[in-house]
Amino acid sequence: MNLLTDDFISTTIGKISLKTLLTSDTDYQLQYAFDEIQLAILQLLGSLSTVVIKPALNELKSYLKHGLTAEQYDLALCNVDLHWFDEKCFMRSTMPNESKIYSAPITKLVSGIECGGSEDASGLFSEVSQANIVCPDCIHVLNYNLHMNIKGECFSKFGATGIRGGGSLSTLISGENLKTTVLSNTVAIDFFESLRAITEPNNKLMWQDPMLGDIYYAHQIGLERGLFALAYHIDFSEIDENCICDVCGHQSNKSINEFRYLRYTGSYGSKKEGRDGGAQWWPHPFTPTTQNDKGVFPVCARDQNWQSWQDFSSYVLGRKTESSVTTPAFIVSQFRKLAPRKKVNLLIGGNIASKGSIKGRIYDLYSMPEHWDKDKLERIEKVIDTGLEIKDRLSRALNKIFAKKAVGYNTNFIVGIKNTAMQQYISNAQQIVQQLLLDIDRKEARILRKEALDQLQAEAKNIYQALMHKYQSDLPLFKALVKGEKILLEMSKLKT
Ligand SMILES: [Zn+2]
Repeated sequence: MNLLTDDFISTTIGKISLKTLLTSDTDYQLQYAFDEIQLAILQLLGSLSTVVIKPALNELKSYLKHGLTAEQYDLALCNVDLHWFDEKCFMRSTMPNESKIYSAPITKLVSGIECGGSEDASGLFSEVSQANIVCPDCIHVLNYNLHMNIKGECFSKFGATGIRGGGSLSTLISGENLKTTVLSNTVAIDFFESLRAITEPNNKLMWQDPMLGDIYYAHQIGLERGLFALAYHIDFSEIDENCICDVCGHQSNKSINEFRYLRYTGSYGSKKEGRDGGAQWWPHPFTPTTQNDKGVFPVCARDQNWQSWQDFSSYVLGRKTESSVTTPAFIVSQFRKLAPRKKVNLLIGGNIASKGSIKGRIYDLYSMPEHWDKDKLERIEKVIDTGLEIKDRLSRALNKIFAKKAVGYNTNFIVGIKNTAMQQYISNAQQIVQQLLLDIDRKEARILRKEALDQLQAEAKNIYQALMHKYQSDLPLFKALVKGEKILLEMSKLKT
């Protein structure tokens, strides 16, 4: 099997090849059991498509509009060394002879499933049987997922930090169908290089020319090398047994249930050692970044109570504060340049990781305007800012329960009341914001702002009133809540 020519992509009507996906008009739907793997296959397909078609920005614009023919695909393929994308080679560098090699069940390639390892590891799912056998086609997306998305600490104490860092978020364009999704997440070579301005980076794949030394300098890593950057030597063998793959659900006469690995010893700029050694951040096209005085960092989900709407406008437009600058992922900036005037969604996905544990998953789709012009994008900002203003107002109202007159209550109890209410607001606002953005094309900024104010204020009020009701016989607490209510109700004066 070769990833650039053969059928390995799982869809609801069977396996298809990248060529079929990119050149046919059939509306294929991916079929992968975990949203984490769904996200990883989209990243992988965008990266593979970049390797094959290597488009300039103008070409990509044309492919998005008119599609790509089978002849164009075949012609582009003539310039690729197919050998490196064969299943026996792809993302597998040779293990050094003298080292101890570890092995693990393939379950470890889907994060959030606990199966031993580090002491503080815990995951979202406890059933190892949810992913303990896969077909040979799916092992490649699992391997890719390990290198790009799984935080080393969550993997095991022998885990590694890859080029994107641990637990970073991805922002991808989700088009009207699978073909336009993959094309929209294909990197335009000229635009990428113009932003990087590096003359002669190494563009050999890492399983062709592995990384050496202690520091992996970003300026030496070319686009294709970085898109498939390795953090482990990986090896796995097929067994001649039938299986129904736990990841794609298709039958196979060969199966894989474990793999061997050894982490690379050097550091990328995504790690402190790498940063201190001057490696610098490699600009991964799917990752929004934050820059502060300590360096450039991938944007990660903050904690398990965080919801993606809170930072959504910074992933689209960027955001500057006194201490940091958030920059949208390359693929989002590229889409603004492509301006295909098509309705798309923005997909935000990733893990919420804390030390060795996965605390949550993000997989949110946001409706985007048809034209990515300044005016339309600012509508997004209006909705998000409204949500944040009301969040701030609710927080200040709740702070009244910390006042001295409410003494006698255990601090943890008071903190717990506030945190629960804030979490409830942040979580409920996620759906409200996503819903409001569905109308981004039809409604002016002023109307959207008004609707956001109405709906989010009502949400905050409901949460607050439920608290007052609950503590109506706890007099000191109730009085404090009454005081806070005034602050909350003043939010009706917020400008529309
Ligand atoms: Zn499979």
